[in-house]
Amino acid sequence: MPLPLARCAIHTMTTKPWSLAQAAEAYAHAGVGGITVWRQHLPAGGAAEAGRIVRAAGLGVAAYCRGGFFPAADAGKRQAALDDNRRCIDEAAAVGAPQVVLVCGAVPGMPLAEARAQIRDGLAAVLDHACSAGIRLAIEPLHPLYAADRSAVSTMAQARRIAESFTRELPDPLGRFGAAGRRAVGIACDVYHVWWDDTLAEEITLAGRLGLLHGFHVCDWKAEQASMLNDRGLMGEGCIDVAGIRRQVEAAGFTGYAEVEVFSDRHWARDQQQWLGDIVRAWERV
Ligand code: ZN
Repeated sequence: MPLPLARCAIHTMTTKPWSLAQAAEAYAHAGVGGITVWRQHLPAGGAAEAGRIVRAAGLGVAAYCRGGFFPAADAGKRQAALDDNRRCIDEAAAVGAPQVVLVCGAVPGMPLAEARAQIRDGLAAVLDHACSAGIRLAIEPLHPLYAADRSAVSTMAQARRIAESFTRELPDPLGRFGAAGRRAVGIACDVYHVWWDDTLAEEITLAGRLGLLHGFHVCDWKAEQASMLNDRGLMGEGCIDVAGIRRQVEAAGFTGYAEVEVFSDRHWARDQQQWLGDIVRAWERV
């Protein structure tokens, strides 16, 4: 059974050329239930105005993107990252998002184990701030092709080992997460990054049992990609069993939005209204 469109949230980066107001109105008009707001799409009036825009459109907010980038070669830059993550958490609260997605960071040449230790320290440093704001922190493991400079956390297991070391739970007054997402620090599972992992199914089950399953992102992996950043496929354009992974996260207790996150120079160059139509048609593959 496909999910209803009400369980679909679209990342504003998926329709990058649109302003937040254009995106929110178009998503809602298409019957999509939710939105994930990216920082670069904040309007001139900032996060509070962004919150008013998405509420006026009647959309739920799945997440705010993105924080992270904790590791750095010197203490000054690490402190700057903490300050920026606290601002990001405040913006998320103003937008009405229940969680911040974290691209955790890596520094070319820094040993990955050291980067992961700095990520853990960074999370520990901002966790009180996040909990006070009622914001969950979702570690997004990124495909290992990004391990040099974007994320030293490449797998669900690495994300789980960091996340489960924080045992705090957060209230969930609107019931957006359920028991599978009860912890303050959890995981955003993006099929693009983890579909190849032979431990994926067991890690999804484990994440749900531990209360770490905060987010689920969908797109597709094209065997031929023109860019390692901006040539992702829409569901059905590649080789990921998106519906199969979706059934695994549901079986693990996940009740949130499936978030459509497609970075694509090809699709951004098109008429965005037609692109949105393709996204809605591809939803049946989730
Ligand atoms: Zn993602």
